[in-house]
Amino acid sequence: MSINEQILTAIKQYQTIIIHRHKRPDPDAIGSQLGLAQILKASFPKKTVLAAGKQYDGFNWMGKTDEIADDQYAHALVIVVDTANQPRVDDDRYNKGQMMIKIDHHPNDDAFGDVMWVEPEASSTSELIYDFFAANTADLVMPSEAARLLYAGIVGDTGRFMYPSTSSHTFEVAARLTTYDFSASEVNKIEDEIDIPLARLSAYVYENLTILDSGAAYLVLSDKVLAPFKLGDDSTSAVVPLPGKIKDVTSWAIFVQQKDSSFRIRLRSKGPAINELAKKYGGGGHPLASGAVVEDEAHIKAFVADLNQVVTDYKK
Ligand code: AMP
Repeated sequence: MSINEQILTAIKQYQTIIIHRHKRPDPDAIGSQLGLAQILKASFPKKTVLAAGKQYDGFNWMGKTDEIADDQYAHALVIVVDTANQPRVDDDRYNKGQMMIKIDHHPNDDAFGDVMWVEPEASSTSELIYDFFAANTADLVMPSEAARLLYAGIVGDTGRFMYPSTSSHTFEVAARLTTYDFSASEVNKIEDEIDIPLARLSAYVYENLTILDSGAAYLVLSDKVLAPFKLGDDSTSAVVPLPGKIKDVTSWAIFVQQKDSSFRIRLRSKGPAINELAKKYGGGGHPLASGAVVEDEAHIKAFVADLNQVVTDYKK
């Protein structure tokens, strides 16, 4: 049985299906979660299909997650999308179901679930959800709302079709999705727009980024720096890609101070793989987009020295 058949068979067996995604979601996490939910609701109207996880106002344009009672997990199939590691799953109850399926496009460092479908080469989990639909058109239907959500996920995770993960298949899937009844340009616009605090923070990032001779770059966004911008929850995400627009920058780290005063590292690269470096600091991720956490400023210094070395070695 192909993996697509295995997943469909499991879906058919369960009356309740609960879909989880990762904490601090991005458009791909939400697009793949709610897109799959819409496909399953439309295809199996008698099933109960629920989306778990915290609702963020900034993502209301994509839809809403559901209130789920503990006892709904007892006989449920849980599908976890777009989440590499179990601690990152939003809502700890993800392992309370009867069966679990993992669908993801991150490196499979934490292999969990009774059935796993992990394609690290795929641009996004939303692309995989489309592939799942396309492999099972005899049983599945795609409402336009699902197409909109999956398109939004692909746009988000490919940086508007710019990152190297964007394959010819990604374009094919996007082209197919845009044949449905929704405005792709409206989705593009929403994902591209930023609010005024974020525009001001973007200016700060360009003004204050340190660019080393190697092409490694970094910026520390401490509480003190961030406070005057009056940003919302996790809104530093939108500035993470900005240093990559600079020709001289090859790989970069943005250190964002957390409530416990540690620093979340948001690491990106246009050249060398940086996920091994992230792993060295207890994190992980994709070759060109990774993350980790460091305790304090002293560790930031060590991390920057390591990043500088990675970029220097790459250019030799
Ligand atoms: P972010 O900068 O949070 O968008 O993270 C980019 C990618 O790095 C994510 O898609 C995750 O795969 C990975 N990542 C980020 N933080 C961590 C972490 N603390 N541990 C493991 N992987 C992480």
